[in-house]
Amino acid sequence: MRREFKGGVEELTTIDLPAVLTIQTGINEPRYASLRGIRQAQRKDLDVQTLSDLGVDESAVEGNLALTEMYEPESESDVTVFEGGADDTAGQLADETGGDLHLAIISGPVDDFAEKANRDGVDVIHTVAHSEEFNHDVYTQAIAQLYDKVGPQYVLAPNSVNGLDYAPAVADQLDLPIVTDTVGLETDGETLRANREMYGVKVETSVEIDAASAVVTIRSAEWPIAEGTGDAAIEAFDVEIDEDAIGSSVTGFEEVGGGDVDISEADVLVSIGRGIEEEENLDIVRELVDALDATLSSSRPIVDNGWLPKNRQGGQSGKVVTPDVYIAIGISGAVQHVAGMKGSDTIVAINTDPNAPIMDIADYAIHDDLFDVVPALTEQFQ
Ligand SMILES: Cc1cc2nc3c(=O)[nH]c(=O)nc-3n(C[C@H](O)[C@H](O)[C@H](O)COP(=O)(O)OP(=O)(O)OC[C@H]3O[C@@H](n4cnc5c(N)ncnc54)[C@H](O)[C@@H]3O)c2cc1C
Repeated sequence: MRREFKGGVEELTTIDLPAVLTIQTGINEPRYASLRGIRQAQRKDLDVQTLSDLGVDESAVEGNLALTEMYEPESESDVTVFEGGADDTAGQLADETGGDLHLAIISGPVDDFAEKANRDGVDVIHTVAHSEEFNHDVYTQAIAQLYDKVGPQYVLAPNSVNGLDYAPAVADQLDLPIVTDTVGLETDGETLRANREMYGVKVETSVEIDAASAVVTIRSAEWPIAEGTGDAAIEAFDVEIDEDAIGSSVTGFEEVGGGDVDISEADVLVSIGRGIEEEENLDIVRELVDALDATLSSSRPIVDNGWLPKNRQGGQSGKVVTPDVYIAIGISGAVQHVAGMKGSDTIVAINTDPNAPIMDIADYAIHDDLFDVVPALTEQFQ
């Protein structure tokens, strides 16, 4: 199994079968239904199963989550750029609930990590020195045992590749409700209100969690980074891991699509997206890159199409870039892309769609056809 990490690195893992896997859409070649296939499907009977048909007690799945609101998000054109982690959000939540903030540092060089995570507002840091690399079962068991020891109200995890791996298992093991991918949290001490973005940031929803305790995964970049040096107590937690229950192990890491260009080092990036339509059209962008003495980068579909190597991709599963100037051409600004470039000093967006999410973080925008704008810019800079 390969899992995609930040910075163009893939983790290789073996897992015992049977297993439940979540997959990315890019794992397979898409299969498009033929017209004949669609007609045949339409003639088929629909087999509707209720929960009780499946032997599930309907009253047991009512749950403590309620979708309370669904609305169009406000434009944040003068957005402040934040970077942060689950600990920073947890700090804010601890303030609002009047509680303490406990951090769990599991696996790897835990003492070094604990020192780095010891920032203002952290009360206790628990270190779990077990395993070098992330492991689903070690994390799940360690967090469940820490939960029993500490008795926290909320358990926060990052909405990262690993966070999304263990958080649902922790919620299941502790029989807690879970809300994933949150971008905002508020609490009155009893009910937690979580905001989530959906459908490519076109809709925002509020979910109310009416439960004594819950697991929440958060989009770390939505909260400010914690500052200062804290005076948290650092406590080694003596975890009891059931080694027989460990069903997977990391066998290595691989850098994919390496090359001689490191886009994270560039001062000026000209980044191209699906708006370019065809591989041949990249030439007009290369001319602009030359005129600006810039570096060429791209969104993921350009790499998935094989038009540029993986080391040119900016974003969550590509490189995180922070150039002085980032020119996004024909890029919509999907969250996974923005996660990798929102720290750029000045963002210029060239897009025919004035409502594209990239406009929310752009400092300068050109609402026009890239096939007109790019050659005109090249001429100006030559
Ligand atoms: C787990 C996961 C990880 C991912 N990681 C990344 C990542 O690291 N990096 C990344 O980029 N994506 C990543 N993605 C994909 C991401 O969700 C988006 O699908 C992708 O960023 C969209 O790329 P795009 O903006 O180029 O294309 P689109 O979303 O299709 O946008 C194309 C844009 O071009 C504009 N346009 C079209 N024609 C023109 C024209 N003639 N002139 C001007 N503008 C035009 C359109 O208005 C549109 O806004 C990831 C997805 C997943 C699920």
